[in-house]
Amino acid sequence: MAKPSAPSYGQFDPMDKTVESLLAESRQLNKDLTELANKRNTSHTRQSDRRKREQLLKVEMKIHDSLASYSKPQCQSICDDVCNRLPREVRDMIYSFTHEHETIYVGPEYLLRTSTQRPCEADRDAHYWDAEYMGVQTQREMVESWYRTTLFYFYDKAHNASVVEQFLVLDRWGLHVKPRDFICRVRFELSAGSVLHGQGDSYPNGPRITCCAMQNVGQRLVEPIQNLHLLPNHVHFFIRIHTYGALQTGCIPKDELSSTVGIIVRRLKELRAAGHRFVVQWPDLGEFELSSGSGTHSPDDWTKRLEDAAELVRCTRARKGSDFSM
Ligand SMILES: [Zn+2]
Repeated sequence: MAKPSAPSYGQFDPMDKTVESLLAESRQLNKDLTELANKRNTSHTRQSDRRKREQLLKVEMKIHDSLASYSKPQCQSICDDVCNRLPREVRDMIYSFTHEHETIYVGPEYLLRTSTQRPCEADRDAHYWDAEYMGVQTQREMVESWYRTTLFYFYDKAHNASVVEQFLVLDRWGLHVKPRDFICRVRFELSAGSVLHGQGDSYPNGPRITCCAMQNVGQRLVEPIQNLHLLPNHVHFFIRIHTYGALQTGCIPKDELSSTVGIIVRRLKELRAAGHRFVVQWPDLGEFELSSGSGTHSPDDWTKRLEDAAELVRCTRARKGSDFSM
């Protein structure tokens, strides 16, 4: 196999010559300033210090201006070398050390921004997103790396179903990169409505009052994640289910609860069968958590654990009710 040629930085020689004397001048000024700082504080040393600081500022601005015109080609040359010499796995490691690892909130406003506006937050203005610095290939790989390592948080329960559908194919970087092909970490807040149940209770320690009879709870809860088992990468899902007290009040009747648990478990089973991982929390069930990581648990165990946890909530409610009536 042909040995890769040695890097050639010859084209940057003129820059070195221009900047070299400026750098020497800057070093000397810094040295002078250190020496002045160790001298006795007199009006003469203070004057000298101020003059040298002004000189240093001018020199640094000249260095900056001299380097600016070379920074793009030089940066591109380094990136091209990295692309030619290192395998993709190592390049991905470099990219992941470069950009920020953020949680990106994905709601309706994420979709409204202009199609090519950078969707990252903390490092939005960094040069390493720019093809003029990175070259087209590195820029694209950086973006792919960003999608792979970013946690996308679908927080808007009322709109998650339509938001995630649009998000997965939205090319926000204008590079023909579809998020669905790269994302690996998502968080979902799921709910079947935003009503706080049992609010009519005027006795804080008494039984919570049934205020409605919820229907199609399971379908409505899982709608945003219904096709996500088809994602090509192994995705880690963190899911929180919100029922706003409906288990405590009995607003989800027993039969509806049983069907809801069935629908949730079927969805989780599909996710696990496709190689995805998940953690599910359901605040109405206290500290309850289901995880795909506990390998011995089968979907039947998940069903039983969910039903037992829900039953415990219902029993607590019934007990509170009987205490109250005494
Ligand atoms: Zn209700």
